[in-house]
Amino acid sequence: MSELFLYNSYTRKKEKFESITPGYVGLYVCGPTVSGESHLGHARPYITFDVVTRYLTHLGYKVRYVRNITDAGHFEEEGREAVDKVSEKAKLERLEPMELVHKYTSLYHNAMRLFNCLEPSIEPTATGHIIEQISMIEDIIAKGYAYEANGSVYFDVVKYAEHFPYGELSGRVLEDQLETTRELDNQDEKRNKADFALWKNAPPEHIMRWKSPWGYGFPGWHIECSAMSSKYLGDEFDIHGGGMDLQFPHHESEIAQSTIAHGHPPVRFWMHNNMITINGKKMGKSYNNVIKFTELFSGNHPILAQAYHPMVIRFYILQTHYRSTLDFSNEALQASEKGYRRLWEANEILSKLDIQAPTQAADAELEQKVTRLCNECADFMNDDFNTAKVIANLFELAPIVYSLKGGQIAVNALSADTLSLLKNAFNTYIVDILGLQGMQVKQDDKIDVVVHLLMDIRREAKKRKDFATSDEIRNKLAASGIILKDEKDGSMSYTLA
Ligand code: ZN
Repeated sequence: MSELFLYNSYTRKKEKFESITPGYVGLYVCGPTVSGESHLGHARPYITFDVVTRYLTHLGYKVRYVRNITDAGHFEEEGREAVDKVSEKAKLERLEPMELVHKYTSLYHNAMRLFNCLEPSIEPTATGHIIEQISMIEDIIAKGYAYEANGSVYFDVVKYAEHFPYGELSGRVLEDQLETTRELDNQDEKRNKADFALWKNAPPEHIMRWKSPWGYGFPGWHIECSAMSSKYLGDEFDIHGGGMDLQFPHHESEIAQSTIAHGHPPVRFWMHNNMITINGKKMGKSYNNVIKFTELFSGNHPILAQAYHPMVIRFYILQTHYRSTLDFSNEALQASEKGYRRLWEANEILSKLDIQAPTQAADAELEQKVTRLCNECADFMNDDFNTAKVIANLFELAPIVYSLKGGQIAVNALSADTLSLLKNAFNTYIVDILGLQGMQVKQDDKIDVVVHLLMDIRREAKKRKDFATSDEIRNKLAASGIILKDEKDGSMSYTLA
């Protein structure tokens, strides 16, 4: 197995990856809050960690990928009133909270399929793990690092910081937070401004509430991820991922809670993807520049010049290293669309290429170049999943593929071994690791099966001179935009109008 190095956000260093259990990787990624539709900014962590999962699998690891659904108790952002986002939005949309959750979970799952993100191994929900969260909170109280106030429970950050390193991940200094955290309602319940809620008391009109040792309420957002990651991946696991904006307070709080509950930090490697910006600004509701998934796919948004296929968005995201910022523009996405088509087509050409080349290459220099460009792809992936450099190499290889097809490069220029290396590199990186697929693959697959079945029936009908049936099949398909063509050799093909 080749050596993989990844950037650990906690130590701010590239470190050699070694899993806790050889051959196995436990990966936890913070999933969506399903109180609304996900937007372009959310696509980045899911696509990034999909490639991480695919690459670890490619290296031979068995990956247990846990990605949660936050369907309760996600507080508003730092500095604002703590509310349950799901309950708030349900009131606004006049839906039962679980109706709302179902609606946005389905939309999210559908988008994940369109982006060709592999399903996680486990997708736990916050509402399905209230008992686990309560018992973790009880444990933290028993250990003296949380306290109850008016039916809510808070984590004692100041006491924690006296005994453990705090703020290491996000680089925040506790003193600054004690100074700058704005006054909130219920602030007087807390011992210190920096304390965060593990459990929030909720009055009867609040639908999403559960019975707890402290009365009725709902869990804090941070405790959800700590409770579910430890349940499915153990008290210490390999990789925790998410967007950079989750480092504080979410992940910093996860570290503190789990350290108290388990006696040690929960995660070996923290990985954070950078943000997607629009004109240099982070995409987010508070900036009023959010482009939702369905808007991206339909082009129905004032910022968008056209609709973008999910594969184009996936490719656009992977063209930049995950730790760099990615600025949105129509020009960038249009360039990605061209680039994606070019590489996809090169892969198609190679997949149909019949290798009948000599064992000895005629063009030694070209042979060397192709070998180097193919082999470097593994080095780039092993260097903190640098998909941007992999794609750059594939772009350098694409003209060679086109020239092989067009005849500008003679077929014997490359040896059989190098041609298979090239063919393999494209298929492995484009399809298996970057997870790209043809723009119409999924839908066309199903149509393809059906049309072939009908073509078989039609062929049989023609054989027995049943031209009525044969014509009927052709005409009905044509009416639905599927045009059958009889070839001279008796075979049939079709095109979609
Ligand atoms: Zn989380």
